[in-house]
Amino acid sequence: MHVTPIDATLGAVVTDINLADLSDDAWQALYQTFLQYGVLVFPGQHLDDAAQAAFARRFGTTEKLSPYQKGANIKISNKKPDGNVAQPEDYQYQILKGNEGWHTDSTYMPLASKVAMLSAQVLPPEGGETEFADMRAAWEVLDKATQAKLEGLSAYHSLYYSQAKAGFTHQTDNLYGLHDKGAPLRPLIKTHPETGRKSIYTGRHAYGIPGMSEADSEALLSELLEQACQPPRLYKHTWQVGDTVVWDNRCVLHRACPYDAQHPRVLRGTRIAGDPATELAPTFADPRAAGFTPSSDNHSSISTTG
Ligand code: MN
Repeated sequence: MHVTPIDATLGAVVTDINLADLSDDAWQALYQTFLQYGVLVFPGQHLDDAAQAAFARRFGTTEKLSPYQKGANIKISNKKPDGNVAQPEDYQYQILKGNEGWHTDSTYMPLASKVAMLSAQVLPPEGGETEFADMRAAWEVLDKATQAKLEGLSAYHSLYYSQAKAGFTHQTDNLYGLHDKGAPLRPLIKTHPETGRKSIYTGRHAYGIPGMSEADSEALLSELLEQACQPPRLYKHTWQVGDTVVWDNRCVLHRACPYDAQHPRVLRGTRIAGDPATELAPTFADPRAAGFTPSSDNHSSISTTG
């Protein structure tokens, strides 16, 4: 295994390794490298479904993102079942468009994700990269006073919220993110359960810091995100068919980059569930989900933002 660090605070390219045939010793070394760099790029692996699922299970339990999902993997694709590409009025298009905002996966679920991976299968002629931002380094450059102010703060996470901000309103369908389980309340500063390093744990799904007005919370969260997602903490991966990229959702943000949606883009994704001891959060009423009834003790500082 050959590891070439990327010229940023995160990320490394790993070659001379076959992810479809990994010994336990090689896995142990690879996992330590993963914890160190946060994002690993494996060019030209051309994994099939079974090999990607098996590699993903090395990291833990795979998440089931849809009742229609067969096996560990999902297709992240703008192609509809009829073969045409999704249009702006399509739910599929709107969810993909939302993914162009910085986020970490499944934070709007009671149990957030630990790790995720993508493999490229069909690519548009240009654009459609995946960009990553190092939230450990973003925390470390903050001055002590700012760190002290942020520690102890929490934010709610909701896919209804992030999609609304991106211009899309969705009904509660309980298929995955558009659920009625409530909005998880997560600490804004997360201590990584394995490395012990702190990071800023935020993204487009985060809103409504308890104890702050809606406007102050929104201003703080957007300024924090803007400042955090800057060089040298960024790596943008330009895909080649056959590449696999894996990242640590506990300390890295990511987003899809825009592309001409008239061209198909198909990635195979696998999401690994967080550890309930460290990625499970209490949930509170989400005002945008169906079934919400305003109540004086719903703990949400923000209840009617439409
Ligand atoms: Mn994602």
